[in-house]
Amino acid sequence: MSGPGGNGDVGAATGWLIRGVRPLGGEPADIVIEGSLITEVAKAGQPGLAEGRELAVCEADGLIALPGLVDLHTHLREPGREDAETVASGTAAAALGGYTVVHAMANTEPVADTAGVVEQVWRLGREAGHCDVQPVGAVTAGLDGRQLAELGAMADSAASVRVFSDDGRCVSDATLMRRALEYVKAFDGVIAQHAQEPRLTEGAQLNEGEISARLGLTGWPAVAEEAIIARDCLLAAHVGSALHVCHVSTAGSVEIIRWAKSKGWQVTAEVTPHHLLLTDDLAAGYDPIYKVNPPLRTAADVAALREGLADGTIDCVATDHAPHPSESKESEWSIASFGMTGLETALRVVHEAMVNTGLLDWSGVADRMSVRPAAIGRLSRASGHGGQVATGSQANLVLYDPAQISTVDPATHASRSRNTPFAGMKLPGRVIATFLRGRPTVLDGRLVR
Ligand SMILES: [Zn+2]
Repeated sequence: MSGPGGNGDVGAATGWLIRGVRPLGGEPADIVIEGSLITEVAKAGQPGLAEGRELAVCEADGLIALPGLVDLHTHLREPGREDAETVASGTAAAALGGYTVVHAMANTEPVADTAGVVEQVWRLGREAGHCDVQPVGAVTAGLDGRQLAELGAMADSAASVRVFSDDGRCVSDATLMRRALEYVKAFDGVIAQHAQEPRLTEGAQLNEGEISARLGLTGWPAVAEEAIIARDCLLAAHVGSALHVCHVSTAGSVEIIRWAKSKGWQVTAEVTPHHLLLTDDLAAGYDPIYKVNPPLRTAADVAALREGLADGTIDCVATDHAPHPSESKESEWSIASFGMTGLETALRVVHEAMVNTGLLDWSGVADRMSVRPAAIGRLSRASGHGGQVATGSQANLVLYDPAQISTVDPATHASRSRNTPFAGMKLPGRVIATFLRGRPTVLDGRLVR
C-alpha cells in the first residue's frame, strides 16, 4: 500500500496502520487497526509501533480522524422508488460522505410499517456492505395517521427498530401521538416527529415571509412547525417518554426545545446541513432545487440553528437525504417534489457552517455527527457506532482532509439522484477514507467495493 490513503496491495495484511492522522483534530497520532478494532493509538512517529505485524499502511499526514458518522434521517427509497435511490446506491453515497450507519426512513412503497419490510431493508443494507442500515419504523399503518403500526413487532424483529417516524407526514392527531409515545417506553424507543401542522401548511410552497409574498406562493409559517413541537414536548413530558424532533428549521423551535430541555424532559432534536447554510431568498429565482420540507428559512433562523447546534440545544446534524429523479425536480416550482440529497456533502457543509465560523471544533463535530445521533438512535455499544477514536473501540472511522477545497459536482456522486442545492458551490474538505469495523469502504476518496 502506498501514498496518502493509497489503495495498494493489502495482500497478507491483517490490519491497518494509519500514520500521522489527527484524532478529532488534535495532535498527530498513529492508529493501529486489527480485525474490527482499534488496537493502538500512539503519538505519531514512535519507533517499534506494530512491529512484526503485517499491516497495510495509510499515510494520513494532515488528515483528521473522526468516529464514523451516524445519520438519523436518510431516505433510501427502496423498496418502491428504485428510480430515485436504492439501498446500495444510497449507502455508497453515505460511505463516501464518511457515514458508517444510516437510519432509513419508513416512507417507502410499501411503507416500512411491519416486521417484514423493516427486515427487508435491514437485509439489503447488509448485502450492500457500504455502511450499516438501521431501519426506522412507521408510527402509523401506511403513514395514514389513523392507527398505530406494529411497533412492538418491528422492535422485536431482526432489525431491532427503536426509532419510529411517519417522516414526510406529521403525526398530527394528539391522541395517536400520545399513544405512540406511551407504547415505545416498553422497549426504550423514541418517536421522531416531522413537525408540520397540516392545516396551517395546506398548499404551502416556501417559508412564509417577504420572499413568498413577492413570488405570490403560499407561505409556510414558522408557527406550523413550532406549534407541533410545543405540543409534542408537553406530551412527551406528560407520559414520560422520548421525543426526537426531526429537521428543526426555525428560531422559535430552537427556543421551545431549549425550554423543554431545561425542564429535564426527554426531548432531542436534529438540524439538516442545508438549514445550517441556505436561506429562503435562494427561492427567488423559482429554482425547485431549493424546494424542501421544511422550507429554507431566514438568515435569523439560520443563525439561531447554528447557535442551537453549538450550545447542544440541537443534539445533532441529520441529512434528510431525499433523492428525487430529475423529472420530479426539473419542473415548475409548484409541482416539483420537496427534498434535497445530502449524504455526500454533509460533513463539508458542517465544516463550512460550524467549524469555519468558530462555532464547533472537530471534537464538537464528532459529538454532533456521530456520538449523539448514535445515542438517540439507540445503537448498541456493541455496534461500535458513535464510539471514540481510542484503543479498544470498534474501528468505525472517517479520515477527512480539511485543507482541500473544491466545487460540488453532483455528476461525481454515487447517489442515483442529483438534486443537491450545493451543486457548483465551493466547499471545504474531502472525505479520504471510511472504515467500517476495520474494513475500508472508501479509500482515496473512492468506493472500495
Ligand atoms: Zn421530514
